[in-house]
Amino acid sequence: MKVIVSHDIDHLTAWEHMADGMLAKFIARSTMHAVLHKICLREYIARFGEILKNRWENIDDLMEYDKDQGIPSTFFVGTARGLGMSYSNRAAEPWIRKIAKSGFDVGLHGIAFEDEEGIQREFELFKKMSGMASFGVRMHYLRFSEITPHILDRTGYIFDSSSETLENPYKVGKLVEFPVSLMDVRVIFPYNRLRPEGFSEIRANTERIIEEAIQRGVKYFTLIFHDRYYSDCFRLAKRWYEWIIPYFRERGMTFISFRNAVSELNRD
Ligand SMILES: [Zn+2]
Repeated sequence: MKVIVSHDIDHLTAWEHMADGMLAKFIARSTMHAVLHKICLREYIARFGEILKNRWENIDDLMEYDKDQGIPSTFFVGTARGLGMSYSNRAAEPWIRKIAKSGFDVGLHGIAFEDEEGIQREFELFKKMSGMASFGVRMHYLRFSEITPHILDRTGYIFDSSSETLENPYKVGKLVEFPVSLMDVRVIFPYNRLRPEGFSEIRANTERIIEEAIQRGVKYFTLIFHDRYYSDCFRLAKRWYEWIIPYFRERGMTFISFRNAVSELNRD
């Protein structure tokens, strides 16, 4: 089994969320979690530091870690707003270029998933902003319906990774669909439960999912880790990421980018 590591960029700054209400909600929720001891005081204070610094992304730090670990990860950046993704194109463009220049792949973090015109608009915008001729896509919130991959194929994307099942990639026309095997928030965040889970429980759940993927014969295991969580404001999530990468390697798995996996699949 090969591992594909990917990062969704949902936020760039804290203040971009003044108008959409997310900043106020985040403060209220963090306060509640601190009171209920679901996050520690250090983490709680760090979250205010991050708001004052007006920085809700950790792209540089994550690129540094991935580079150090030899991970050919893919970052997905948006060109439209919606569902709590509120940064501007002007703010996104330098990041798209910087990530690509750092040697990582960049794709679109999409909003439109059923509306063909909207999908084409985001595609053209990303093409212009990135200067790239071909690229892939992942929908924000993993929105995906039966018609989604067909429209994405017609639009010209080389791959999509928005569906969520423990299955092998498959082709829809020329497009390769990579189902997401594991997204960070599925195993990490205990906030909606009465009893927060400890790290050992999270680790056991993660190992179970990886084991199930192996049993099912999944050849490409697709992981999502949000750069937002590569921070001391989300200590459990950061610890999980720094555990899972070496864990894959210990299990003898190698890392591959979506782009190279597409080439491998097209060769077969
Ligand atoms: Zn997203």
